[in-house]
Amino acid sequence: MNIATSQHLFEKAQHFIPGGVNSPVRAFRAVGGSPVFIKSAKGPYVYDEDDNEYIELINSWGPMILGHANELIQKAVYDAIQHSFSFGAPTRREVEMAELIVSMVPSIEKVRMVNSGTEATMSAIRVARGFTGRDKIIKFEGCYHGHGDSFLIAAGSGAVTFGTPDSPGVTKGVANDTLTAPFNDLEAVQTLVNANKNTIAALILEPVVGNMGCVLPADGFLQGLRKICDEEGIVLILDEVMTGFRLAKGGAQERFGITPDLTTLGKIIGGGMPVGAYGGRADIMNKVSPAGPVYQAGTLSGNPIAMAAGLTMLNYLNDHPEVYTQLETSGEKLANGFKASMRKLGLNYTLNQIGSMYTLFFTDQPVTDFPSAKSSDLPLFGRYFHAMLDRGIYMGPSQFESMFLSTALEDKHLDTIIAANEESLKEILSL
Ligand SMILES: *Cc1c(COP(=O)(O)O)cnc(C)c1O
Repeated sequence: MNIATSQHLFEKAQHFIPGGVNSPVRAFRAVGGSPVFIKSAKGPYVYDEDDNEYIELINSWGPMILGHANELIQKAVYDAIQHSFSFGAPTRREVEMAELIVSMVPSIEKVRMVNSGTEATMSAIRVARGFTGRDKIIKFEGCYHGHGDSFLIAAGSGAVTFGTPDSPGVTKGVANDTLTAPFNDLEAVQTLVNANKNTIAALILEPVVGNMGCVLPADGFLQGLRKICDEEGIVLILDEVMTGFRLAKGGAQERFGITPDLTTLGKIIGGGMPVGAYGGRADIMNKVSPAGPVYQAGTLSGNPIAMAAGLTMLNYLNDHPEVYTQLETSGEKLANGFKASMRKLGLNYTLNQIGSMYTLFFTDQPVTDFPSAKSSDLPLFGRYFHAMLDRGIYMGPSQFESMFLSTALEDKHLDTIIAANEESLKEILSL
């Protein structure tokens, strides 16, 4: 495959941009090689600067749930830009957007728009702290909540150890207020809570994890967390930046029947524009400025162009429940195809899949938390990634990512992915 133009751009990029990219995973460091630079995309296909065509499994990490360059969203954006790009003043669409989110996600009574998932989670823990008058938060090892200081905390070794910063630049003070527990380990959470009585403001998690690869909550895990939070007056925050409007119209919370106090949203909610949101119980959200004392603001928040894209996306999803039926069917078809190939080849790798999210882990162990995800053979994944890329399949360039299906993927595309998977496995394992 010729990627000469991408390679040239990447060389140049490294002179002017740290690591050559504006978000680290794009640099392909986890899989080796040079990243492909994307020029355009339509429906299920993405094209790089050398005009190679790939079938999309990243889909902008989720927002392109209807496939690329959806015509309804394009039109909404064209129409919106006729009226200028930003006002820094309230607009009609923001009201419609809030009303629609509240109707689609029943746990959300009030919502505030921001510009990214990172802003949403940072703001959500601030209001949780303001509401409870407590400082600490609990997060889970391997869950990603954007790059806010409080969330860049390494997987703690024991359940009761304090966090240590995962990145230089995060102060010890901030790190001390973040407690970490292993995902799917209710007992560890209970232990943390008992050891930190009346100091924990919030517990935040991805209800289905996408950011250590796709990892599902064990039976009763989410309900158990809800119970602990109720008993201890802890604000339960579901970070549905990935799962919101994807695993169901009302997100993972609808699918798993759990009611959080706050929810954070992003990705799909902007239809591809930079958008995030946080919302939930009215008594908590009423603490946000100017209704209450917890300050949070944004010059471009509720941006009219971003709202036009997001509102069109959400309206479409709200009006077309068949989207979710199709995504379920596609996810199952892919999983069954992968499993059949592995049986045929005598392989026992772990495939985690739910609806339109999946990860093939190169380990025989069940993957239920970060340590089991890390038991994967990472160099082997790197070879698999490139074998798939060579066959025209564009995947997330790390073992610790979920793939995201779109409704633009038809049966023939899924068949191509299944065949490419089987050939790639044969190639990398010399079978
Ligand atoms: C992507 C993501 C974020 C961060 O969103 P950005 O828009 O990249 O800031 C937060 N939480 C989860 C679960 C995510 O997947």
